[in-house]
Amino acid sequence: MRSYETAVAGAQSILDGEAHAYALCRPSGHHARSDRAAGLCFLNNAAIAAQLLRGKFDRVAVLDIDVHHGDGTQEIFYRRPDVLTVSIHADPRHAYPFFTGHAHEAGFGAGLGANLNLPLPRGAGRGQMLAAVDVAAKSIRDFAADALVFAVGFDAHNDDPVGLCALGDDDFGEIAQTVKALGVPTLIVHEGGYAIDVIGRCLDAVLGPFLTAS
Ligand SMILES: [Zn+2]
Repeated sequence: MRSYETAVAGAQSILDGEAHAYALCRPSGHHARSDRAAGLCFLNNAAIAAQLLRGKFDRVAVLDIDVHHGDGTQEIFYRRPDVLTVSIHADPRHAYPFFTGHAHEAGFGAGLGANLNLPLPRGAGRGQMLAAVDVAAKSIRDFAADALVFAVGFDAHNDDPVGLCALGDDDFGEIAQTVKALGVPTLIVHEGGYAIDVIGRCLDAVLGPFLTAS
């Protein structure tokens, strides 16, 4: 199965009525733009899923917590008012993709106000990340999203070789609790993460809240 087909299958399960689904996409997709591959991404799995969800849901949000800006996802929806794109990532002045991901990028034309970038300072840890997630959650509530694509990378982990942020395993679980509390159908799409030994634990932490009833 191709990477994007995994996201399509996950989106279809949400369209069929599941509250939550997880798509183990490889390679990741969030740097891929509408017209070109970039950053080891060929097709934008999260964006494809978001577009599919629009077939049923009027207002869809994408929340991307990979340590790199979700520039492809931003570009694809930048002029659209019906899909809110939110990305929490290392400050692009010090990190790929360098040219996008700044806080002033808020959308264009009809899409103005439907893009939110929350760059983190180099070495950001739990407190800064969780504060940004709270801001992101508020924006998703204010947008009145009725479905969510949660693009999850694990390269903000303290052990990740990219060395940009300093999250621990459990911090990913806390992020996931905030996301689940939004109370909308949610497709989790796997993005980056290069500390092979910790990805499994972090994924457990993310999926945990979605596997409990409350
Ligand atoms: Zn990344």
